[in-house]
Amino acid sequence: MLFAPSKLVYTFAHNKAPIPGVYQTAEMKPTFLAYALPVLLLGASASAHADVDYQLKITNAAQHLAEVRATFPAAAGTTLDVSMPNWRTGRYNMLNLANGVRLFKAFDAKGAALPVEKTDKGTWQIRTKPGDAVTVQYELYANTLGERTRHIDDTHAYLDASGVFVYAAPFRKEKVNVKLDVPQGWKSRSGMDSGACEHCFVAADYDVLIDAPIETGLHEFYTDKVDGRTIELAIWGRGNHDGKQMMTDLKKIVHETAKLYDGKYPFQRYLFIVHATDGAGGATEHANSTVIQKPRWTFAPRKQYQGFLRVAAHEFYHTWNVKAYRPKEMVPYDYQNENYNRLLWVAEGHTSYFEELIVLRAGLVKRDEFYEEYAKLIDDYQHQPGRFQQSAADSSFDEWIAVGGERARNASVNIYSKGQLLALMMDIELRRQTGSKKGLEDVHRILFAKHSTAQGGYDVPAVLAALRSVSGQAWEAWWAQYVDGTAEIPFETLLAQVGLQKLVDVPKDQEQKTEWWAGWTLREGSDPAVVTVVERDSPAWKAGVVSGDTLLAVNGLRVSAKDIGDRMSLAKAAPFKVHLFRRDELVELPITPVQQPKGKAKVKALDKPNAAQQGMNAAWTGVAWPKEDAKKP
Ligand SMILES: [Zn+2]
Repeated sequence: MLFAPSKLVYTFAHNKAPIPGVYQTAEMKPTFLAYALPVLLLGASASAHADVDYQLKITNAAQHLAEVRATFPAAAGTTLDVSMPNWRTGRYNMLNLANGVRLFKAFDAKGAALPVEKTDKGTWQIRTKPGDAVTVQYELYANTLGERTRHIDDTHAYLDASGVFVYAAPFRKEKVNVKLDVPQGWKSRSGMDSGACEHCFVAADYDVLIDAPIETGLHEFYTDKVDGRTIELAIWGRGNHDGKQMMTDLKKIVHETAKLYDGKYPFQRYLFIVHATDGAGGATEHANSTVIQKPRWTFAPRKQYQGFLRVAAHEFYHTWNVKAYRPKEMVPYDYQNENYNRLLWVAEGHTSYFEELIVLRAGLVKRDEFYEEYAKLIDDYQHQPGRFQQSAADSSFDEWIAVGGERARNASVNIYSKGQLLALMMDIELRRQTGSKKGLEDVHRILFAKHSTAQGGYDVPAVLAALRSVSGQAWEAWWAQYVDGTAEIPFETLLAQVGLQKLVDVPKDQEQKTEWWAGWTLREGSDPAVVTVVERDSPAWKAGVVSGDTLLAVNGLRVSAKDIGDRMSLAKAAPFKVHLFRRDELVELPITPVQQPKGKAKVKALDKPNAAQQGMNAAWTGVAWPKEDAKKP
């Protein structure tokens, strides 16, 4: 920087003549002196003066309010554009995060107000003088817990910079200092390094800041070591979790995940943030931390807890796949616009794929439980007509405008589930091609080594080259069919290669071996039964039943979501007469459902798997083929 050190100017001015309404904390003076003295002696050459300083003071915790100040070093021109991101990393849609900002003001180094004009939904243009530092100040409303962007209440604050701290493009690569003013007794945690005070953090630049959210408040905290790395766990909220057990299991996940990358870690310290809460669920990956939200009473029993471990494995695997390397269109992230690319199915779907393998290999789920997940996943996919309408690559590109509900199932594929199934196919195919010596993890090791974010990320040719280098075979034709195309995944052949089959398991002692299938999905527990999804081309679709209909009666008898299957089973022949309400009007429709085996979809061992199939299964799962399965007739 050629201009006068902004930190000096700003702090000096601030100490002399505080800006009205701006808070000032006691720790500022020592900081000022520590910086000012060497600066005065050395002149303006040192780069440390170009830091961007952020301060956040929680002004009314219960009402979710904070005051934020950001000081930018001397700008070169007569205007400085300051922006709030429009989305946050890991959530690929526009969240318009400037909507939490009010009372935006700007000041020069002497505390005089500067003219501000808003030029788009997330940008403020400040009129300044070349060489002057600019300080902005605004009130922040932080009440979007489930979005995992910003949440402040009287017990904690979760602060993802994407929704909290504005940035100025010319200073995006400058060092960042963050200082929080929070209620007494709170502790502050982040993937960022700690700064000079209790609630201070430092980051190499804005991108590091944005990928290291802060959890501050009252929480349980655990710390331990895995492979020489520090692993931390901070849990906010009360619930039925066992923090100690969580830490034990997270350590297994950490070690098992790193093995997929030859033990090469992209961090020295990692922080798991857990929100045991209500009204929020989901998780987000960051550079060396993650935030996992789960309803407070869902950390037990075992099945529910396994759900937590799966999510933890997913987010932790992202530390490599997405954070350490990602599609080149997202390097660097463009915080204002959509970051279109055709590879999100690798970023997300492959992560979902390894999530399952990690918890299996770490001994946190059993082999049967691992198969159960695939049975559900495959069955669900086979009832997704959208798989013939949209490819994995198109779904990746359109993730920014993805919709949910019925339309998603009938006209789309999901980057997570489709990506996971393609990963399964790729892994098994690579093992077939290499005599079980190599697999999909080897492809990811190459992407990590050769296409890290520091190296600019990866593109489709890079993934194809990695596949070729692992298997010695060309993958272009496969890619055209399954990634750019919508060819059906050959599950039967695929599963058979690893000694497995998918079937509908009809219990032997079950009286009723078949059931009527209409193709509608009903809201769980609804009475009367509310239709949420109608599968395209199913009997219900053809009969004209639509999402939102309220089913009242089948063949003249009242039904609910719970008993409709039993009521329908009483009828020996179709068509049925269905009565329903559609926007208050009574409608009567004939429907001709079809018979199908009554039972749960299952993935299980083939009746007589051969040694090659068993061997490939063991190489794929990383767990030996069980002896009892081999003996089964
Ligand atoms: Zn993910």
